[in-house]
Amino acid sequence: MTEFEPVIGLEVHAELQTRSKMFCGCAVVDSTSAEPNSSACEICTGMPGTLPVINRRAVEYALRVALALNCSVAESSLFARKNYFYPDLPKGFQISQYELPLASDGWFDIEADQGEQRVRIRRVHLEEDTGKLFHREGYSLVDYNRSGVPLLEIVSEPDLRSVEQTRRYTLALRSLLRYLGVNSGDMQKGVIRFEANVSLRRTGSTELGTRTEIKNLNSFRALSRAVAYETERQRVVLSRGGQVRQATVGWDENREITLAQRSKEEAHDYRYFPEPDLPPLQIERAWIDRVRSELPELPAAKRRRFIAEYGLSEYSAGVLTEEPEVAEYFENAMSTLSPGALSAAVGPADPKTLIERTSQAVSPQRLANWLTVDLFGLLNQAGLAIEKSRVRPDSLAQLVGLVEAGTINAASGKLVLEQLFREGGSPQAIVRAKGLAQLGDQSQIRPLVDRVLAEHPDQVSAYLAGKHTLTEWFLGQIMRAAGGRADPAVVRTELEAALQEKSRSTQ
Ligand code: ADP
Ligand code: ZN
Ligand code: MG
Repeated sequence: MTEFEPVIGLEVHAELQTRSKMFCGCAVVDSTSAEPNSSACEICTGMPGTLPVINRRAVEYALRVALALNCSVAESSLFARKNYFYPDLPKGFQISQYELPLASDGWFDIEADQGEQRVRIRRVHLEEDTGKLFHREGYSLVDYNRSGVPLLEIVSEPDLRSVEQTRRYTLALRSLLRYLGVNSGDMQKGVIRFEANVSLRRTGSTELGTRTEIKNLNSFRALSRAVAYETERQRVVLSRGGQVRQATVGWDENREITLAQRSKEEAHDYRYFPEPDLPPLQIERAWIDRVRSELPELPAAKRRRFIAEYGLSEYSAGVLTEEPEVAEYFENAMSTLSPGALSAAVGPADPKTLIERTSQAVSPQRLANWLTVDLFGLLNQAGLAIEKSRVRPDSLAQLVGLVEAGTINAASGKLVLEQLFREGGSPQAIVRAKGLAQLGDQSQIRPLVDRVLAEHPDQVSAYLAGKHTLTEWFLGQIMRAAGGRADPAVVRTELEAALQEKSRSTQ
């Protein structure tokens, strides 16, 4: 049986979340909650006699993305009319870029199973979004709030080879757009949409096979399912000796299948021609240089720095840097962790045990674990973003410090975190109010040990007669006497010392 290899190229559409639209002054509004058609004017609905004006901020946002994707920016690019009719496009054409896009020939390195993988970027261009249709029983409604919202199209070369790579590429792209502050990444609001081009070729071949283009992919899940489905469909066709027909297919979300829409449209079907109402878009060197110099630290660089600077695992560094807010939260928490800051924060509750032992440095990996496992768990359950969390970064750091120092055990730590999550406040106050502090000090634990041994003379005799398995039983009794708050390691040491003394004195 011949083996086939999938070849995938993606067109990613991302709204640029500027204040106003691409070619008019209408506000860019949340198209899922704003009153329909409350932000539409004669320009973005294409009334005759109106003239578009290019939104400078949208161009700047596009430049950020193009530069972050290592593209060459054209000093002069052109807007063009892409002509077609659809009710969500009242002008009868979409202003886009065609022959001379804003930027081209870049690349984007993503984390793959076998290290970094380079995906070449063919082009990045500016266009405008269309309105939105709502199909009802027997009629349809249209909302033009989205009509004319700046849209960036990012087109990759066919460099992706699997569903997993496709997923990683798009996740990394979403993360990048959020870091650059140009897009909220809120998939449920449709601010990022995908089109996937899929073909198969015989493994080992370097030629490209015939592709289909899947439209209407609005989530990572739909993208993965659709690419997997289409790959399999083509595999069946080819293994039976058939041919894939070049076509545009739609993803049917409910039935989870692709449906043929039309044979692939060609560029000439759109009658592209330069937009006569807009001048060429000239971009000065100085502007490019300024945007480049103002780019923030990007996710990949941050991930590498988190590994180098904090000694985090690759996995944790990846999770922490996917969302800029999470990375910032982690670094805020780390920055409160100078030993001085910690011991001061713990306060005078029990000078000997608490302060001394909490002033040890908190391991960044432990902090990362509490953040990405425990706090994320609570956030997910509540459907909350980290910025809305009542657990402040410094509180989380102190909490981890208390656990790491053995002031409270991990189980108590989780209780404290839950309370912080519900009500906010300081971990130290909660530990005090709930009396959760462990007895971790030799001077507190030894009397407990002695008391328990004194209360159980028979078991002590049995132990001294050689029944050493009783150690675990004594441990249990002492932990019970301490209300579960004793540090088990200290209890064990003290218990062994006490039993040793007894056996020595009976010899
Ligand atoms: P259009 O879809 O408008 O015709 P292009 O021809 O430039 O535009 O291709 C768009 C996308 O299709 C690009 O992401 C490109 O990588 C991808 N692509 C082109 N040929 C193939 C192929 N044989 N298999 C998979 N993807 C392909
Ligand atoms: Zn408008
Ligand atoms: Mg296409």
